[in-house]
Amino acid sequence: MKRPYNFSAGPATLPPEVLEQAAAEMLDWHGSGMGVMEMSHRGREFTSIRDQAEADLRELMAVPAHFKVLFMQGGGLAQNAIVPMNLSRGGAADFVVTGSWSQKSHKEAKRYCTAHVAASNDADRHTRIPAPESWKLDAKAAYVHLCTNETIHGVEFQSLPDLKALGSDAALVIDCSSHIATRPIDWSRVGLAFAGAQKNIGPSGVTIVFVREDLLGHALPVCPSVFDYKVVADNDSMLNTPPTYAIYIAGLVFQWLKRQGGIAAMEQRNVTKAQLVYDYVDTSGYYRNEVDKSCRSRMNIPFFLPDDKLNDAFLAGAKERGLLQLKGHKSVGGMRASLYNAMPLAGAQALVDYMREFAARHG
Ligand SMILES: *Cc1c(COP(=O)(O)O)cnc(C)c1O
Repeated sequence: MKRPYNFSAGPATLPPEVLEQAAAEMLDWHGSGMGVMEMSHRGREFTSIRDQAEADLRELMAVPAHFKVLFMQGGGLAQNAIVPMNLSRGGAADFVVTGSWSQKSHKEAKRYCTAHVAASNDADRHTRIPAPESWKLDAKAAYVHLCTNETIHGVEFQSLPDLKALGSDAALVIDCSSHIATRPIDWSRVGLAFAGAQKNIGPSGVTIVFVREDLLGHALPVCPSVFDYKVVADNDSMLNTPPTYAIYIAGLVFQWLKRQGGIAAMEQRNVTKAQLVYDYVDTSGYYRNEVDKSCRSRMNIPFFLPDDKLNDAFLAGAKERGLLQLKGHKSVGGMRASLYNAMPLAGAQALVDYMREFAARHG
């Protein structure tokens, strides 16, 4: 069976091998007589699934021992409240606004701390990243929040800022929901990283948090226990029932990533896929992407046709050729192709072939 290529921004395409393995194990996981959804989260079987998933993720992402890895719930959006509840101590935090997601994070944090916008690319319609040297960092901020890949606007940090070099002692917090496991993370610059799973890792329902140990233990009294990083860490993410099936699928994806050669190999492939699409867009004389070349996302590529009236025809033709979910986010318009880890090079090539054919017919 030839599956279509699914360009959804999330929940998004998963490796077929992972889905096949999950299907094969659906009724009976490893001879246990139970499917993973039917197991006690405290039993030997599920505990082994969870521990393996964490070990594989630590290995893949080279997570240092002084970081805790937490499996939480509530998605990226809940983290917008959970981070200030745990890290701000009711004081101040800085936000670098580079698109919709960092904007949302800033808005939510205002409920728990003094949330200050240190820099914004609003005036550039979220098409470039303000140079770190220009950020107006607050000396009293407990942390600086970035969204390192803006899923909607297609803007990606190609490296992490060195806050110390910018004269700040704040912890760097990154929302890496839509590019986790697609490139390495420089942990020496990070205090906390969080990611909802449904872009590159698995089903929605599990949120992965990497937090440096020295940041634990300062939650505001208002913080629910299940959202207190220290309590979650002390209970191995099992204070309450975790999203067991989502963790299991994430674990299968981690094993798949290891078989692909790990994060460095994925990064190379991601560079190749993105370059294929951007090179065509830039030379087509028909399509356009408005993001500055220095910060174009490898994961999410928004692009526009010369006339919005052609959008429906473009999407209908794409669907006929097995190219799914290319419609752009409503706040940006146009199209968006998401090229996560599980999108093969052949999918990016099929998209470019179709774009070329469409341009020839309508240009
Ligand atoms: C998808 C996404 C989120 C939101 O995740 P939810 O699980 O829907 O809360 C947050 N940040 C970024 C960058 C995302 O791409």
